[in-house]
Amino acid sequence: MNCPHSHIEAALDRWSECHWHIHQMEANYHTPDLFRYSLNSFIRAVKEIPQILKMELQNNSQYRSDFKSTIDSFRSNELMSLLHKKRDFIVHQGMLDILSKGSVGTTEGRGIKISIGFNVAPHESTHEAYERFKSLCKNGGVIRGLAGPDCDSWPMIRREWRIQEIPEHELLELSVNAWRLIGEVISEIVVKLGGEPLDLSFSCRHDPEKVKTMEFSQQEFFKSVDGIEINA
Ligand SMILES: [Zn+2]
Repeated sequence: MNCPHSHIEAALDRWSECHWHIHQMEANYHTPDLFRYSLNSFIRAVKEIPQILKMELQNNSQYRSDFKSTIDSFRSNELMSLLHKKRDFIVHQGMLDILSKGSVGTTEGRGIKISIGFNVAPHESTHEAYERFKSLCKNGGVIRGLAGPDCDSWPMIRREWRIQEIPEHELLELSVNAWRLIGEVISEIVVKLGGEPLDLSFSCRHDPEKVKTMEFSQQEFFKSVDGIEINA
């Protein structure tokens, strides 16, 4: 018997590649250009999947009756629908400027304790933003008292990437949703070809809140901002 996956090998391979690009987005979330390159690699890979599936399945006897409409259901996903309408869609630097945002504050490990809006510039890495935050604190700004750590908490910066085309969702979420929808569609096709459903759990995915938040050393903050050696 021939393996159901063999009919759509290239599409499955591209879908696995998309999974890898999502991990790159997670790993590079706090470095603007690297995040954007990873996002664009994801976009380039993901938008080819419907065409690849059509090529791989067009000679199948069930293509017209069954597979074609299944493949077209990709467009119910907002990112896939945007990529269908704008064929050469890619995220340029300025596109992240308007809706992306950041905040500074403190954490005690289980979630955020205090947080205030902070203009983390879309072109600046979270490390650079943190240096800027520390120098504001050092120069006696009220921000030290408002958003700086105390003896039970440590500093954090949280940021989010968004574009105007799909303002209601953050871009990593959007990509994971697209990956999952594509997985559902491919899984449906695999089942129709006589195989088992695909694993769509994405259990190796990182907690999105942890990805968006970068934590910093309490000790280093007290030393460099307040000139106090804690744990001395
Ligand atoms: Zn993984």
